[in-house]
Amino acid sequence: MDDNIIQSISNNMNLKITDCKEISYWVNGGTGCREDYVNKSYICGNEIILGIYDSEENRLISFFHELGHIASHKLWVESEYENEKMAWEIGFMIAASHGVFFSEEAEDFANEQLKTYNNGEVVELVDTLDLVLQKEQLKSSGQ
Ligand SMILES: [Zn+2]
Repeated sequence: MDDNIIQSISNNMNLKITDCKEISYWVNGGTGCREDYVNKSYICGNEIILGIYDSEENRLISFFHELGHIASHKLWVESEYENEKMAWEIGFMIAASHGVFFSEEAEDFANEQLKTYNNGEVVELVDTLDLVLQKEQLKSSGQ
């Protein structure tokens, strides 16, 4: 199920997905160090290198986060933390536009990831549903 969503979005956006579940990638194409790919994903041009996740949902939310980076790269700002936050929020919006919503556990995982860019300080990402509602309001007010 998740892989179908990942594949169809990637095809539509002309993105290449490299899945680190395949041992050959991190040994031959990557750093050779499995740890570099545990709960971590990367982008390299139009390629998303999807890491190794304990939970399928964390893997999926991370995929949308990387999409958020790709979609927001023109909005790049100086602060690494702001870029990360923007990528999560835009990623949530892209997910919602595909009818994908996440559990609180997955959103906690996202907050944990973001925290590492904010000197360990906890920040709550804007609730996915709020973003969608804002978007709907913008649409209906004709902006
Ligand atoms: Zn990121």
